[in-house]
Amino acid sequence: MQDRVTRTMVDFAQMKAFAEDPLVLTSGDGIRVTDIEGRTFIDGLSGTFCAALGHGNARLADAGAAQLHRLAMAAPTMATNDRALELIDVLLGLLPGNRYSVIKLFSGGSEATENAMKIARQYHKQTGHATKYKILSHYRAYHGGTGNAVAAGGWPAWRAPYEPLAGGFIHLHTPDPYRMPFDVAPGSVAQTYLRLVEETIEMEGPSTIAALITEPVLMSAGVVIPPEGYLPGLRELCDRHGILLIFDEIITAFGRLGRMFASELFETWPDIMCLGKGMSGGYAPLSAVVMTPEIADAFWGDPRDLVQFHSGHTYGANPVACAIGIAAIAEIVERRLDENAARQGDRLMAGLRRAQDRHPAIGNVRGRGLLVGVELTRDRRTRERFPAELEMGVRVRSEARRRGLLLRAGHWMLVLAPPLTITDAEVDEVLAILDESLDAALAGVEDGAVLVASPGTGA
Ligand code: PLP
Repeated sequence: MQDRVTRTMVDFAQMKAFAEDPLVLTSGDGIRVTDIEGRTFIDGLSGTFCAALGHGNARLADAGAAQLHRLAMAAPTMATNDRALELIDVLLGLLPGNRYSVIKLFSGGSEATENAMKIARQYHKQTGHATKYKILSHYRAYHGGTGNAVAAGGWPAWRAPYEPLAGGFIHLHTPDPYRMPFDVAPGSVAQTYLRLVEETIEMEGPSTIAALITEPVLMSAGVVIPPEGYLPGLRELCDRHGILLIFDEIITAFGRLGRMFASELFETWPDIMCLGKGMSGGYAPLSAVVMTPEIADAFWGDPRDLVQFHSGHTYGANPVACAIGIAAIAEIVERRLDENAARQGDRLMAGLRRAQDRHPAIGNVRGRGLLVGVELTRDRRTRERFPAELEMGVRVRSEARRRGLLLRAGHWMLVLAPPLTITDAEVDEVLAILDESLDAALAGVEDGAVLVASPGTGA
């Protein structure tokens, strides 16, 4: 197996290390997946935030199979298809009435963010604001792996190898209330970050800025939940300066945060919304860009005007993916999985916060619904991180995998996002595995004893 896995490249993974301890999955059932050796794991990340309904869901499989027999591929440059139209009806029915009117379907999250930014730029060109082309986004954000999406992303490690990137991308400070670059009086965190955004807008020139793209909760930044008031503040700044607000809800929508959309949770609606991942439960590649009537109108005209959206992807609005999407959303709604996500997320975070008494390395627990981050610190009081070379998060991840739990880890963060179908008993199982894994990971660190625990976790 070691030899065979070297013939591929796993996302973001160094294959030398991966090949030493490969993971080759073959099947799944509920919240669990099984590998080629017959080992079973809790899928603590829902694939990558996709498998909201768990694995082996017969309704989704049947929806896909039936559509494969009926029509597997429509003609995306000449036609749409009945399943795509049905899915759009479903989505518009879930979104607030009259706010959005047109949805373009794609097959992956990067396609959605990439095209959302193109739509924003073209919209301004076609409404008399041709100088508006810049895109604002946050440092530490991730918006996908394609050209403009990488340019909007904010982690140097994911950008530097591909530079020079597309021009016109300006980065804002990550609105991180836990790690602020300077002291801010409590209660003024959102205002401070907003002031920085405003200054960026002023200095760049509002007449040059097309859009601001952000995840409502910035997962790759470390499950950063912006301080209260930040997202409505962005909305206000964008309105004031004629900047389109794009929410990348690729991870956060369809119940993941305990509500159907993060926009609903934070009571802030964007001009353009990017959806993906949980939309098909991970059973087919599917994503969407949702837009307001005002934006859509700019693309409506005489064929000779050439104002249509000049882009597309072969598998966009694929009828099989759409049929699965319709079934997945129906399951989420009928089983009220958003509510289960809220409940189980609270249970998971409460368990993790209790575990802070035993595990000084748990510096901060944060999240909404079933998107939960654990920031590992060497000193909880000062929030000092472990030295990067210790790769503490990666150690915990390895120990967890050995004990049957898959999760996401950087050297200072753990992220959990299990299927929305998870039960009380399964959450407790996740907590028990994490408890043992943290002990085992720390035991492997020579100076683990210097860890400093202190009350007042700031969690
Ligand atoms: N946006 C966010 C917030 C993501 O987390 C991801 C992927 O993880 C993407 C966009 C890109 O989606 P995809 O990998 O489906 O292209």
